[in-house]
Amino acid sequence: MPRDLATLNARFGQDAETALRFSLSGALGEIALVSSFGADSVVLLHMVAQIAPQTPVLFIDTLMLFPETLAYQRTLAEKLALRDLRVIGPDREALFADDPDATLHRAAPDACCDLRKTRPLAQALQGFDGWISGRKRMQGGARADLDLFERDTASGQTKVNPLASWDVRQIAAYIDRHDLPRHPLVAKGYASIGCAPCTGPVAAGEDPRAGRWRGQDKTECGIHIQDGRVIRRKAS
Ligand code: SF4
Repeated sequence: MPRDLATLNARFGQDAETALRFSLSGALGEIALVSSFGADSVVLLHMVAQIAPQTPVLFIDTLMLFPETLAYQRTLAEKLALRDLRVIGPDREALFADDPDATLHRAAPDACCDLRKTRPLAQALQGFDGWISGRKRMQGGARADLDLFERDTASGQTKVNPLASWDVRQIAAYIDRHDLPRHPLVAKGYASIGCAPCTGPVAAGEDPRAGRWRGQDKTECGIHIQDGRVIRRKAS
């Protein structure tokens, strides 16, 4: 089994679907897809549903999502016949202790993301050898030099970013080619969609993630950890 990341990255280059097939073949062990059911998520969800529909799909319901996201999640799960959708969320006791009035995102967004996203995901990923994410280099910031395959040295898990090299045009072309439903907020200018209090629309030509935590020195939720540390580089 080739576990050397440089070998894997050289072998698959920018071929998203072949890299995904390899990752879902068992060659990397037990793999889950982590999906936000956001603006671009349908691409990877559709690919995974075609290649290996039994793949566990982890969806983090932070309890702060747009109702449109929850409805879209249900629509896609049914349309794509996802067989192992796992809705995960924050621990209720921790939520009651640390964010009882759901305002932590205003005072301490990093702590809020840790409570509502990072910790639940870390727990849900226990037992997996790796996970697939929809991150892309075009999203800038810490993602600008993203590789197809990465490793979290703290957990030892492999992270697969099949769409690392994809751009807006490729995403749109794939959605059109397969006649897939779009997230309803995309038509309202939301290019990247997370929790409702921390997400807004973007203007034409803006960075797709400019609407996330707008006005704050924060560009990542903390889920994406490299070498045991959270990446906090500001988007360019
Ligand atoms: S995106 Fe905002 S509301 Fe959602 S977990 Fe992070 S800080 Fe909290």
